[in-house]
Amino acid sequence: MKLAVLPGDDIGPEITEAALSVLDAAATRFGLNLEFDVHEVGMAAHRRIGTTLPASALEAARTSDGVILGPGGMTAYPPREDGGINIPGTIRRQLDLYANIRPARSRAGVPRALPGLDCVIVRENTEGFYADRNLFQGYGEFMPTADVAISLRLITAKASHRIGRVAFETARQRGRHVTMVGKRHVLQVTDGLFMRQVEAVAAEYPDVTLREIDVDAMAADLYTRPDQFDVILTTNMFGDILSNQAVALSGGLGLAAALNVGDGHAAANAGHGSAPDIAGRGIANPSGIILSSALLLRWLGTRSGNNALGAAAAAIEASVDRALGDSDCRTRDLGGEGDTKRFAKAVANGLRDKG
Ligand code: NAD
Repeated sequence: MKLAVLPGDDIGPEITEAALSVLDAAATRFGLNLEFDVHEVGMAAHRRIGTTLPASALEAARTSDGVILGPGGMTAYPPREDGGINIPGTIRRQLDLYANIRPARSRAGVPRALPGLDCVIVRENTEGFYADRNLFQGYGEFMPTADVAISLRLITAKASHRIGRVAFETARQRGRHVTMVGKRHVLQVTDGLFMRQVEAVAAEYPDVTLREIDVDAMAADLYTRPDQFDVILTTNMFGDILSNQAVALSGGLGLAAALNVGDGHAAANAGHGSAPDIAGRGIANPSGIILSSALLLRWLGTRSGNNALGAAAAAIEASVDRALGDSDCRTRDLGGEGDTKRFAKAVANGLRDKG
């Protein structure tokens, strides 16, 4: 099984290396045949060949069985016309990775973890308020005069319907409850269309309950009543914000696991950014990208029918939980004494011990 690996910028290469060491240990333990096809991207690639996303890297992502994508430091990129291409945005669009699956769960032993939080945010990943990629041609923001700025939010029935289906299928594997989030009485046309499509999907899943909540109420309820939520379904920008909030409530951004999924491709890309403030110091928390890689293995297992992949995913998640519970292994962002390498080693050793 070939995985394209695009390490990204700043902490990207450090945490990606950590994830690959864990995947190697999982491959040995579960007899997986994993091959890593590593491609330089980001500013390192730009310095060498003038683009942050070389065509060969994009092609590798397209032709591999799955992708592991380190975070890109997009705010430091030159303009698009000078080779500064948004890597995750372009890959999501090119591979039609329309669902962003972001679990957030509080774990025993992790400081600041909010008790009762165990949810999955299912975020629409292709449209909404993302001006750099929500139009077929042109840019989704413009200034008709020097003192007027307008941003367009794209919502389609097709994208709303298919993300709704992902949410209900996810709920069937979990607590059979979907909360859809927006602000329908204000964004009457766009959230109205989104929610009508979700309601149409809900009619096909009588075993799953659906509830609607406004995004502002949601921001508060996630903190005050976390146990109310199982699958949280929402549009692109709201999902980006709420998933960071949820994972912060579980302990910190470094825990942010995320899988970008379409009908034929998937990319593990942690929900946090490239953390330039701590890059190169070996202290970044690799949990997010390790857990994202576990989500990718589970997706590959479901698609291929190879149960060993699902078992490897579960074992990685359990080993991460154990390492997070140990303050000698946990990284500093979670109040621990560990660093990137020590944490990854503990997770890999946990797999070798058949824990
Ligand atoms: P960020 O997520 O990189 O960092 C926010 C804070 O969280 C920082 O203090 C950082 O040190 C900390 N943090 C994040 N990940 C961590 C980890 N694994 N371990 C320990 N601490 C961690 O957000 P930002 O500073 O707003 O963005 C930095 C860059 O990341 C920007 O260029 C942005 O465009 C990019 N970004 C990329 C992605 C992606 O590739 N999917 C997503 C979001 C942001």
